[in-house]
Amino acid sequence: MINSIDQKVKLDIDCGRNKKDYITIPINKDKDAERRKDAGDFPDVVLIDTVNYCNLRCSMCGRRKMTRPGGIMDFKLYQKIVDEIAIKNKKARVWLVFFGDPFMLQDRFYPLVTYAKEKGLEDVVVNTNGMLMNEHHSKKLIESGLDAIYIGIDGFNPETYSKLRVGGKYEMVVTNVKKLLEIKCKMKAEKPAVFVQFVEMKENEHEKEDFIKYWTQQGALVKVRPRLTFAGGTEAPNLDPNKKRYPCYSAMRTINILYDGRVCLCASDYDGKFIAGNVWNESIQSIWLGPLKKLRRLHSRGEYSSLPPICRDCLDWQAMRAEFYTRN
Ligand code: SF4
Repeated sequence: MINSIDQKVKLDIDCGRNKKDYITIPINKDKDAERRKDAGDFPDVVLIDTVNYCNLRCSMCGRRKMTRPGGIMDFKLYQKIVDEIAIKNKKARVWLVFFGDPFMLQDRFYPLVTYAKEKGLEDVVVNTNGMLMNEHHSKKLIESGLDAIYIGIDGFNPETYSKLRVGGKYEMVVTNVKKLLEIKCKMKAEKPAVFVQFVEMKENEHEKEDFIKYWTQQGALVKVRPRLTFAGGTEAPNLDPNKKRYPCYSAMRTINILYDGRVCLCASDYDGKFIAGNVWNESIQSIWLGPLKKLRRLHSRGEYSSLPPICRDCLDWQAMRAEFYTRN
């Protein structure tokens, strides 16, 4: 996230045109190390599965393998979660979706944002495939006070996009993002920060430079991240089974709450294969300092063979990172 980045340095980019027209926004090295440490008494990232329906079937997404039923979080449960975050850690980054698309909620999405903002949460964000993000929703997003939006596009030409973002329409998503940027500009709104996301993989790696260049020129921020296996649910040949393991950011810093209140292992556990508790009848903190702390201790001590099988055999710990780019 842009506010966690301390300095900007120039990246010397020569993609055949010898131009330096965008720059990386580097993650501070200390912050990188911090991401592998236990967050302490309360997580600093909370993912909330407010809706787990989606309108696309993206090739790289763990959701394709999801077997748990679709659902929408009860607003009372959502309020209970937000109320606790507001007391324990207002600065936590709160993602308002886990494995669904927020626009599946239509206008029911905005009361979620405004409730969190009225409670004083400082970093309320969402990701989306952007297909349903029309002009109406762009205005509502801005008015809601949302801090940031991440729109997954992953391709620079329509053929690549269609292969990866199955069911999506390239021209439509590009138009929707450009419209959001335009409306934000007209409304002179500082928020939300608009990120377009590129999950780097064999199918699209040749388009990465053009993607970054194009979207930074449009005024968006660009996030590039590696492909994940979603704890073994999908393929990610980029991950190296022989790499020396270190503690996983997703275990050490994040808590992930399914729409029915169950807390699962991490952001890769789309089906809730490991359940640590339920926030309907427990607090976030008691689960965080209970069963999840035991897992964090195993990560910190390097006792990976004692982890539950889903985590023991997972390679996603090496993909919990991203690069960010902005206009020069
Ligand atoms: S290693 Fe995999 S399963 Fe374990 S916490 Fe990280 S992402 Fe989740």
